[in-house]
Amino acid sequence: MGKILRVNMTKLTTKFEDVPAKYRQLGGRGLTSTITFDEVPPTCHPLGPNNKLTFAPGIVTGAGAPSSGRISVGGKSPLTGGIKESNSGGVAPEKMAKLGLKAIIVEGQPKEKGKFYLLKVDKTGAELLPADEFAGKGLYEAYPMMFQKFGGSVGIMACGVAGEKLMSMAGVCVNDPENRPSRYAGRGGLGAVMGSKGLKAIILDEKGSAPVPIANKEVFSAGRKKLLNALLEHAITKPGGTLNTYGTAALINVLNEAGALPTRNFSSGRFEGASKISGETINKVCKERGGVGATGHNCSPGCVIKCSNVYPKKDGSELVSVQEYESVWSLGANCGIDDLDFTGQLIWMCNDYGLDTIEAGVTLGVAMEAGLAKFGDGKKAIKMLDEIGQGTPLGHILGSGAAVTAATYGIVRCPTTKGQGMPAYEPRCIKGIGITYATTPMGADHTAGYTIAPEILGVSGKLDPFKTNKAKVSRGFQDATAFIDSTGHCLFISFAILDIASGMEGMVEECNGILGTKWTTDDVARIGGEIIATERAFNKAAGFTKADDRIPEFMKYEKLPPHNVVFDVTDAELDKVHRGR
Ligand code: SF4
Repeated sequence: MGKILRVNMTKLTTKFEDVPAKYRQLGGRGLTSTITFDEVPPTCHPLGPNNKLTFAPGIVTGAGAPSSGRISVGGKSPLTGGIKESNSGGVAPEKMAKLGLKAIIVEGQPKEKGKFYLLKVDKTGAELLPADEFAGKGLYEAYPMMFQKFGGSVGIMACGVAGEKLMSMAGVCVNDPENRPSRYAGRGGLGAVMGSKGLKAIILDEKGSAPVPIANKEVFSAGRKKLLNALLEHAITKPGGTLNTYGTAALINVLNEAGALPTRNFSSGRFEGASKISGETINKVCKERGGVGATGHNCSPGCVIKCSNVYPKKDGSELVSVQEYESVWSLGANCGIDDLDFTGQLIWMCNDYGLDTIEAGVTLGVAMEAGLAKFGDGKKAIKMLDEIGQGTPLGHILGSGAAVTAATYGIVRCPTTKGQGMPAYEPRCIKGIGITYATTPMGADHTAGYTIAPEILGVSGKLDPFKTNKAKVSRGFQDATAFIDSTGHCLFISFAILDIASGMEGMVEECNGILGTKWTTDDVARIGGEIIATERAFNKAAGFTKADDRIPEFMKYEKLPPHNVVFDVTDAELDKVHRGR
């Protein structure tokens, strides 16, 4: 059943609590969003003492299910002002599950301003320790210091200097299997919430812990096998398949071809330099430069898809892990930069300072439009990220995200919803994803309801991306996603389970095996829908209305080349998505 660890940063206390009955069948996003709803006053300041930051591994995390090493981080977002769940891979999620922790809830703030602590948890208990020696340092310096002190096999979740400086684009970092500070619960500024709590890092050492309890091993194993077979069979997820070979950046050429790759701050859907930053080029460079370069890398233990990579410098030494689609798009095409050595360096800097790469790239695009640099100027992009890391006045503006930067410089073309920067799919020519961006409680987020699957990739059927009547489609994807985010599986299993029915059954049976429930695949939408209803109820109490479920106005009148289309989904269609909740 596990425990909840409550950490009070005002009193500097830690306490293990029994899991209330209403939380027992929840995990990941379902749990972080329910705890946020239950315990956080919706109108509180996200960086004040009354917000809480909750960490929760998924329902099946740590039990040996394929591609299930994810953790959800939740709270009230300083970027959107609404509820936020952001999730990450890395090694810490599995360790937290093995320590028997259903959730860690961090509340309060230290009385002494600017003081930082570490939370160390092992099988003997939890304690808060001073973190003075690690605060103020880049994460590529701080992580090795922490491994030196606590051993090389611990899991570490930390905020970087951007989080310490309370910047709204700060994420929560998790080490990958080779201990790089490279995996992120990036979205929504939860790294700043961590910084506001004076919590520099959580160190998880699961050595000597009992295995994750499984209520019905037979049911779990049967489900695990079904899901595994689906992942090994589907063309996108199988070994040697699209994700394994080219990574998520395989989407660069696909979206560019569709005219839906946002370019130079969402002023075009096609980028002339797309092929230079594509997954195919990443794969080629990794082979040509050799050294540590590799595709097919896994970000967390037990992933069978392995979509990650290690990108080499010209001499074969490591530049960065990972050059993935959203990052090479945001810091590449969206800034007019067509050079993977620049995107690699920019991603490394985001990892070092503790930034969400999507928000960083969308903000740099807005800054370039404001004239702070020319589109395509990689060197100036590096300088701007440095301003954030150094915490200069300009850095604080940029570090507050795209919406604040646009407001500061009077930029009308501000690609955000609910204050969060848009990811790498143009809503004007892929209407379903625009409906998701507008209506998800999270702010613009492709992972909240990935209609790209049928609209562009032909997964789970084929839909015309230009058709606007997709409220039902977006709702279905949003509900299913909320469930998957609760299981602890990586969202990329969706490609296989949407096309192969036994894969979907397997995911549900794994959950039944762990929890002793009797869910069927029909429960996926029901449970996911309940989570979203909870999230919307929080946002409503925080002051959100249907006027917040909209796409930025410029997308309704500014035609996007090359298709010269606007976002023409009606408000009535948008309001249909969550009707009844
Ligand atoms: S599919 Fe990719 S992102 Fe998902 S868990 Fe595996 S390596 Fe990580």
